[in-house]
Amino acid sequence: MRQSHLFTKTKKESPADEVSQNAELLIKAGFINKEMAGVYSYLPLGLRVIKKIENIIREEMNVIGGQELELTSLQEKETWQKAGRWDDEVVDNWFKTKLKNDTELGLAFTHEEPLTKLMKEYISSYRDLPLGIYQFQKKFRNEARAKSGIMRTREFLMKDLYTFCKDEKEHEEYYEKAKEAYKNIFKRAGIGHVTYLTFASGGSFSKYSHEFQTITGAGEDTIYVDENKGIAVNKEVYSDEVLNNLNLKKEDLVEKRAVEVGNIFPLSTKYSGPFELKYQTEEGDKKEVIMGSYGIGLGRLMGTIVEVLSDDKGIIWPETVAPFKVHLLSLGDDEKIREEADSFYKDLSDQKVEVLYDDRTDVSAGEKFADADLIGIPYRVVVSKRSLTDGGFEIKKRTEEKGKIITKNELIKLLTASA
Ligand code: ATP
Ligand code: MG
Repeated sequence: MRQSHLFTKTKKESPADEVSQNAELLIKAGFINKEMAGVYSYLPLGLRVIKKIENIIREEMNVIGGQELELTSLQEKETWQKAGRWDDEVVDNWFKTKLKNDTELGLAFTHEEPLTKLMKEYISSYRDLPLGIYQFQKKFRNEARAKSGIMRTREFLMKDLYTFCKDEKEHEEYYEKAKEAYKNIFKRAGIGHVTYLTFASGGSFSKYSHEFQTITGAGEDTIYVDENKGIAVNKEVYSDEVLNNLNLKKEDLVEKRAVEVGNIFPLSTKYSGPFELKYQTEEGDKKEVIMGSYGIGLGRLMGTIVEVLSDDKGIIWPETVAPFKVHLLSLGDDEKIREEADSFYKDLSDQKVEVLYDDRTDVSAGEKFADADLIGIPYRVVVSKRSLTDGGFEIKKRTEEKGKIITKNELIKLLTASA
């Protein structure tokens, strides 16, 4: 894409009303727009990142046999009353609305109830199980505090997977597979090295649930990490008894600030019970289905990547989720330079390498460099009078201080190698 066509422009000033670093950088660089507190729109650059994250998650969900669907946001009151979650005393972050005839509706903040109800139509026999069903779907939550940029918003895209199994054993097998899928997702998204499987409260139906917590000062949670074992305990369940239970020693644990990027939860019969979601066993008995739920907030993951991987100049995207792989800068408005840059842009595009081409003629070299650092695309390629005199193009990774000049052919080889 030619940057001269990109409608978003970078901003020099930080937004006045923004306290979180992820939102500040993403707004300045033109990835998102703040509509109001806790509500953000995704602009072309930001949407490209979200789509990359979505594809990584989708691939990993499909590996574990997930089937994708899309449920509605508008939901009936009666569905939510079944398992006792309609009441504002029970769930304090509902957005509710009404039809013209005054019938109450809810904007779903999660989908256990609607999906359990739906699956009653399709699950009847042991032959139907196990099942993993997932979606990428907007959730609405009237969050009291929304000060963490896109890490905590009132409207957000969530990947939610739900599993349906015959018994606890089958459930545990699926749960373990989901755990592995989650580890792969966070690794591929570039934050695996600071993300820990964390024991958290399991509610009334199971001893623990598991969170994936990423270490960052911007997080809202406190966890205790055993770095050798690579696991952690959330402060909310931290006690001598739990440590004993998990075979962890107080002296091996380090207290850290972290953000929950994902959550996996054994549900047992919490929803299949009230909805009477049952199947017929091989022996002909009726049994309640054992369920699990598994969430990841895509905006929260994107914000976390920004928090963890930026520097004082801007964002540093991992190649896997970057909006583009290469940021091509042409410097000066010399005819020869423009021709070289245009033809290189065409070569890379033909080879399906994603390039943001800064072809603007009314912008100084200094501004182009500053924009490239702020936007954070992994490879910066510069075509200038100097680079051409020195025999080619300058290539520099966003993580490197200094670039080097290489020939066009070498450069194409390098940039297409891992495409
Ligand atoms: P938290 O404890 O942070 O409030 P939660 O436990 O309510 O989150 P879940 O209901 O398990 O979260 O949601 C699944 C995932 O959705 C979370 O792990 C997180 O990645 C994301 N998520 C939850 N709430 C928000 C929000 N308000 N904005 C953005 N993402 C969110
Ligand atoms: Mg939580």
